[in-house]
Amino acid sequence: MKIFHCNHCQQLVFFENIQCVKCGHALAYLPDQVLLASLEPLGDNLWRSPAAEDRTYRLCENYSRENVCNWAVPADDPHPLCQSCRLTRVIPDLDRPGRKEAWYRMEVAKRRLIYTLVNLRLPLANKTDDPERGLAYEFLADPDDPNAPPVLTGHDNGVITINLAEADDAERERRRQQLGEPYRTLLGHFRHEIGHYYWDRLIKDSRRIDDFRHLFGDERLDYSEALKNHYNRAPSADWQEHYISHYASSHPWEDWAETFAHYLHMVDTLETAAAWGLALRPPEANELSLKLGRPEKVPERSFDELIEDWFPVTYVLNTLNRGMGLPDAYPFVLSTPAINKLRFVHETILGYAHEQH
Ligand SMILES: [Zn+2]
Ligand SMILES: [Zn+2]
Ligand SMILES: [Zn+2]
Repeated sequence: MKIFHCNHCQQLVFFENIQCVKCGHALAYLPDQVLLASLEPLGDNLWRSPAAEDRTYRLCENYSRENVCNWAVPADDPHPLCQSCRLTRVIPDLDRPGRKEAWYRMEVAKRRLIYTLVNLRLPLANKTDDPERGLAYEFLADPDDPNAPPVLTGHDNGVITINLAEADDAERERRRQQLGEPYRTLLGHFRHEIGHYYWDRLIKDSRRIDDFRHLFGDERLDYSEALKNHYNRAPSADWQEHYISHYASSHPWEDWAETFAHYLHMVDTLETAAAWGLALRPPEANELSLKLGRPEKVPERSFDELIEDWFPVTYVLNTLNRGMGLPDAYPFVLSTPAINKLRFVHETILGYAHEQH
């Protein structure tokens, strides 16, 4: 994530903010400018910003009415919702307690995901515009009847379902412990499920399928059988030598989705580190200060550069967290096969961007 400043008073502002704490101007993310910017009202829900003098904007309807969004829509776009909100097809029942907060958390995580996907120039159409290949989100709550089947977080042909319970910190932590996972976050779910979507778009029926199978295994393996085995069997002793997470070892599709999510963790965190001018000087680094690349260059950088920057950043993240008495921010160990799979994700994304431009 880049760093943003209020266009009126230069105060540092953050991606999720809606008002400048210093000068009080309204803020909105302008997707066409890739900027969080301050706004001036023109009346009638029209706004302008010093960040884009010649343009007018409306606030996304989920911003002006519901307060779950902070993005703007160019005034000449007839859609009431912003680029991110129009991807959501089913929202929770807002009459139920806690549902509005859960929806807000879902949209916050989704906007951060969309920011990175746009930055990586990945295809991103909604299902209304492109019913066949587009994307839609459904945020669903478990049924009240305890005997009814629970909502499963997952992806099916462009429709991504996320169980609302994952927006509840206590419940998600309970699930994390029950499943023995070192890492479980709402943003992580969004990054994992979109991985399945991009497998369909970028790997399936593409010339990359053979390379995929070579690295990740044959995805024609029975999926439900593989997942059943995964949950019924004790973890194999050596999964870390081949996979990025234990769950990735369940099936090649899950391996890809876990690797894809991991790649997005890396790209976003490295962009943030670079935006803040983070330079690392590890003690044994024979006086070589590691300068991280410019944020706008992240997608163009070679995978070797990315991974070389990545390890020291993770050491700092974890050490800072331990200093605060918190669990490791990055509880992963990357084996050579896992790194090779990350490289494949990188090359797939770059390959797509180059084919389009
Ligand atoms: Zn300000
Ligand atoms: Zn919106
Ligand atoms: Zn999955």
